[in-house]
Amino acid sequence: MTRVDQLSDISLREAAGWASQQAKRLAANFGLDLTADRETFVLAQTAKLGEEVGELQAEVLGAIKYCRADKLAQFTEESLAGELADVMVCTMLLAEILDVDLARAVATKIGFLRERKF
Ligand SMILES: [Mg+2]
Repeated sequence: MTRVDQLSDISLREAAGWASQQAKRLAANFGLDLTADRETFVLAQTAKLGEEVGELQAEVLGAIKYCRADKLAQFTEESLAGELADVMVCTMLLAEILDVDLARAVATKIGFLRERKF
């Protein structure tokens, strides 16, 4: 079993733990203090999430071939998966910076959607 196969079964709670450490590394990398520069970090990470959503949108357009023919080759199942993952990772980082328990929020949302039954 590869390292990627092993990580594929990571729980949202475990992923949040990774995101917490990654947020600390990112803050340090950009010279930000997690407390004093929290608002700046939140705004920067929100902008980063927007950037990643834009990249995902391009991948989706490529997947449905709604783009110039000469760009089609750059869009693959792997690059689409990578952009979906980027959006998820950025969301997890933003949740950590905002002290949101994302695992609980997702569980709550899934529970709500299951009860709604559509
Ligand atoms: Mg990306």
